Amino acid sequence: MSTRTAVITGASAGIGAATATSLAEAGFHVVLGARRLDRVEQLARQTSGTALPLDVTDADSVASFVEQIPECHVLVNNAGGAKGLERVEAADEDHWRWMWETNVLGTMRVTKALLPKLVASGDGHVITVTSIAGHEVYDGGSGYTSAKHAQSALHRTLRSEHLGDPVRMTEIVPGAVETEFSVNRFDGDADRAAKVYQGYEPLVAEDVADVITFAATRPPHVNLDQIVMKPRAQLNGSRFHRE
Ligand code: NAP
Repeated sequence: MSTRTAVITGASAGIGAATATSLAEAGFHVVLGARRLDRVEQLARQTSGTALPLDVTDADSVASFVEQIPECHVLVNNAGGAKGLERVEAADEDHWRWMWETNVLGTMRVTKALLPKLVASGDGHVITVTSIAGHEVYDGGSGYTSAKHAQSALHRTLRSEHLGDPVRMTEIVPGAVETEFSVNRFDGDADRAAKVYQGYEPLVAEDVADVITFAATRPPHVNLDQIVMKPRAQLNGSRFHRE
């Protein structure tokens, strides 16, 4: 069988970087997109992949990214994140705009642009990393939970719209994963970010990457629709067992 190509957005860190490594180990040619080109270039050297600049919030950047990808079998919509933890009464519009642009419109833009290639591959697969925040709410989280709910709705709509096409759709729904996520959420405040993961063992990026690779390596007729994964000590977005 010829080499299949997997495109990963937000491959410069965390879950995206671990997924690129894992999919490359599983035999995929990986195409790595992110704004920090130096990081994806370094990872591309380690994985024999291709690094390309990508800002999912910029339509021109997405168009030029996709133009440079001749074929695509797997798309991992991973670029995203959170900004702030303000209650609605103190909502920060810039934070909301960032979260909606990156998680929701970014996923729409990249998926829309790559769908023709995914269908043409004869065995395409869209894997979207949403979050448990896409399925529940918590105090201070409305900007992120609303964006992740919208991203999840977008992804699940694809499953319906492309029923009958040779494209699978998998939603990955993680709980707490220790990455740069919380440092970015709290604007570089590493102490505040560390507290999110204190007193229990969080997931690490490689745990999520393993599951993404498992989904991507099932036979073409097997569609894993939705995979929810959390640390054992996490019940939901606001309840943890901390030692
Ligand atoms: P991370 O370590 O902060 O990585 C985020 C990635 O997204 C980076 O590679 C970043 O690359 C990329 N990104 C951000 N804005 C982008 C843009 N405009 N264009 C292109 N790439 C962009 O966080 P992570 O935990 O791995 O998060 C990955 C995904 O998992 C996100 O969608 C997040 O919402 C979701 N998730 C995370 C957790 C968690 O607890 N960590 C839980 C559930 C779901 P550049 O900055 O180089 O562009």
